[in-house]
Amino acid sequence: MEAVLEEKNSCTGCGACAAVCPLSAISMKADGEGFPYPQTDTGKCVDCGLCRKACPALSPVELKRGELYSAIHSDEGERLAASSGGAFQALAATVTAEDGAVCGAVYDESFSVMMELSRSTEGLRAMRGSKYVAAAGNEECIKKAFEALKTGSKVLYSGTPCQVAGAKKAMEILNKGRVPEGFFSCDILCHGVPSPKIFAEYLRLTEEKKGKILSVNFRNKDKGWEKQGLEIRFESGERYLAGSAEDPYYILYFAGVMLRPSCHQCPYACHDRAGDISLGDYWGNEDAEEPQPERQKGVSLVMVNTGKGKELLKAAASLKLLPGDEKSAYQPLFDAPTRASASRSAFFGCVEQEGAEAAIKRFGRLSAKDKLVKKVIGPLTKRLGIYKLAQKVYFGKRQKLDKKDSV
Ligand SMILES: Cc1cc2nc3c(=O)[nH]c(=O)nc-3n(C[C@H](O)[C@H](O)[C@H](O)COP(=O)(O)OP(=O)(O)OC[C@H]3O[C@@H](n4cnc5c(N)ncnc54)[C@H](O)[C@@H]3O)c2cc1C
Ligand code: SF4
Ligand code: SF4
Ligand code: SF4
Repeated sequence: MEAVLEEKNSCTGCGACAAVCPLSAISMKADGEGFPYPQTDTGKCVDCGLCRKACPALSPVELKRGELYSAIHSDEGERLAASSGGAFQALAATVTAEDGAVCGAVYDESFSVMMELSRSTEGLRAMRGSKYVAAAGNEECIKKAFEALKTGSKVLYSGTPCQVAGAKKAMEILNKGRVPEGFFSCDILCHGVPSPKIFAEYLRLTEEKKGKILSVNFRNKDKGWEKQGLEIRFESGERYLAGSAEDPYYILYFAGVMLRPSCHQCPYACHDRAGDISLGDYWGNEDAEEPQPERQKGVSLVMVNTGKGKELLKAAASLKLLPGDEKSAYQPLFDAPTRASASRSAFFGCVEQEGAEAAIKRFGRLSAKDKLVKKVIGPLTKRLGIYKLAQKVYFGKRQKLDKKDSV
């Protein structure tokens, strides 16, 4: 077995290499941390080079920068059910209305996150909401999308920028040098994706304590969009709801303790985008058209990067555009990828030696100082309009402290 890329940390797990291999010689296999990487069966491989051609880490896709808006779904239910303002559903529905197909991330029956293709309303609903876990199956989803495109169907490919880049490159190879006309893409602003192994362990431990899980929602808005909570519902009727400063999985996620290594050197953490459209949270605009408390239903950031993006946006009649600008969007991801916590390797070392339960307990806690910053100082600086500056100062200082701690 061989790897496609020599530099393992550059591999995003996008699966483009596996999707284009004419001999199915590549399979995605999880490493010790639980992230999938391509493995080549040298017995099957004929060294045609297509996998390397398709790899966005070896030959990057062209990134494009477009106009930025804030936006909300005009249906309140759709808006509340989405992670930010519901822009994704509004765009996706325009594609399925024309008998097109949409690719996006869904939970399977055991809450593994998978990339799936769908044309139905229920299928689109399952894609709704951010799942803070690396989604598997991009390679199979790319193949399904290509089959749909061959029949003349439009396809909207939504996912992380690296998945979108992988899908675009694979389309180019599969379609003999040109991305098919009907291929549209939508990426998200991406903090990074955690290990599926840690998520599975977290859910297993939760089920041990509270019984069978019926649903998981990372972005519950009961306390308002800006106070997002992880909501888990159980067969017993019980409900768990914890904020980003309380839930251990959330704490590990935002601190950069359990993200895929490629996320810390992500080439897509910038203004220039891989997708025709980019979506995120629009944290600004406090005093503009939509004052509080309406804003607490969620507001999407929408970037329209290409002509295809404009076409899609024009068709999305249920999307209400509001003013937006880069400064008030508060997006640290435009400047740099998420930094890895200095505790990252200690965390995964602990998972290996003592098990996930011990590691989640030990590392999934905030110090009193971090709690103060997250709960009081963060929201205050946002209101004062100095959030980005404060983030730079705080994270810059913390990185130095982390480095000192780790020596
Ligand atoms: C892992 C992750 C990290 C994110 N980080 C940020 C961030 O730092 N800053 C920011 O502004 N926004 C971030 N977002 C995006 C944001 O949370 C919203 O998803 C986005 O604003 C779109 O919201 P919506 O209301 O339009 O639609 P929603 O219905 O909430 O969006 C659903 C879309 O997200 C996709 N999706 C969900 N989970 C995954 C996954 N695991 N892998 C691939 N695609 C997925 C679906 O396929 C669909 O396209 C992140 C999303 C994810 C999944
Ligand atoms: S070189 Fe060709 S045959 Fe070999 S793994 Fe890559 S795509 Fe498949
Ligand atoms: S195509 Fe994607 S999964 Fe394959 S080696 Fe390149 S980055 Fe990794
Ligand atoms: S942070 Fe970058 S590498 Fe990581 S999942 Fe997001 S787009 Fe991919």
